[in-house]
Amino acid sequence: MKEIIHKLYKYSEISDDELKMLIDSASDKDDELLRLLADDVRRRYYGRDVFLRGLIEISSYCKNNCLYCGIRCGNKNAERYRLSREDILSCCDYGYSLGLRTFVLQGGEDAFFNDEFLCPLISEIKQNYPECAVTLSLGERSIESYRKLKQAGADRYLLRHEAADEALYTKLHPESMLLENRKSCLFTLKKLGFQTGSGFMVGAPYQTSDNIVSDIRFLQKLNPEMIGIGPFIPHCSTPFKGFKQGDLALVLRLVSILRLIFPKALIPSTTALGTIHPYGREMGLKAGANVVMPNLSPADVRKKYMLYNDKICTDEEACENIAKLKKRIADAGYEVLGGRGDAVK
Ligand code: SAM
Repeated sequence: MKEIIHKLYKYSEISDDELKMLIDSASDKDDELLRLLADDVRRRYYGRDVFLRGLIEISSYCKNNCLYCGIRCGNKNAERYRLSREDILSCCDYGYSLGLRTFVLQGGEDAFFNDEFLCPLISEIKQNYPECAVTLSLGERSIESYRKLKQAGADRYLLRHEAADEALYTKLHPESMLLENRKSCLFTLKKLGFQTGSGFMVGAPYQTSDNIVSDIRFLQKLNPEMIGIGPFIPHCSTPFKGFKQGDLALVLRLVSILRLIFPKALIPSTTALGTIHPYGREMGLKAGANVVMPNLSPADVRKKYMLYNDKICTDEEACENIAKLKKRIADAGYEVLGGRGDAVK
């Protein structure tokens, strides 16, 4: 196993069989080696730097019915809200005053947020804060829409592919959602010049290590600037309520593997990771992640953007506690850097 890990460190590539073996059978010692080497690779391009993104969850309405997601349209228990233009602008204002230089507008696929609403809003944010990046995470849209959003000034787009394997994708999504469309959106985003992020949940129901190998191979084809992975966590009002959550050690192992394969990627230590372990965020950073996304949504809506059970949103992950978050990151041996935090070219 040691040889495989060193090969991955040296060449950023190993065979499917080797990758599968690493995913399935790495020991604690192997994980430790992976972590050390991933940290070394991250240091090469990013030193000890960690970038913060202010996450604004703009809508809990969603037309989709993904089987894993707490805001799926079929969840009649979900509380729905959408932020107004003024709400979003004041979140940016607040975030800017805290030193944040990237605003991520994320939400369910909500037709209310059409191009006529979003484009002037994005332009206004960019005008107010020219040195800030605007990231969107609003699901699948048409090429024309993505083009308009880019022209309005959006810099980045996050759209996890969720599962690169057709059979698994079908088990996680309703018939109306097509993997082919998801993938084509991602290639379109790249072509339009968005810094693009993709990724998948670890430990999603029915997921096998072969599936994870396919996910990694898809990411290599796409070559995104950002890669987000986190554990699947069940939500009590979804069809997947009875499945167990993703394994912490496997998520961390995969963060390290992804860092070794994608030395220059921006990899967040996700909220889901912070949800399954009190020090999950720090563990993610130590495994090779270099981005943290504190929650900038208005406090009264945060509990309504409940993608999975017990999603954290009020402690260090909340922007109002950013000083505590920075201290925790510093205590883990990293340094929060100001600025937009673009990926190294
Ligand atoms: N609608 C946009 C989209 O589809 O990309 C953005 C919002 S979506 C809720 C954001 C991400 O949350 C998804 O890409 C998914 O991977 C993650 N997510 C949803 N339900 C989850 C769960 N039960 N456990 C972990 N992550 C989950």
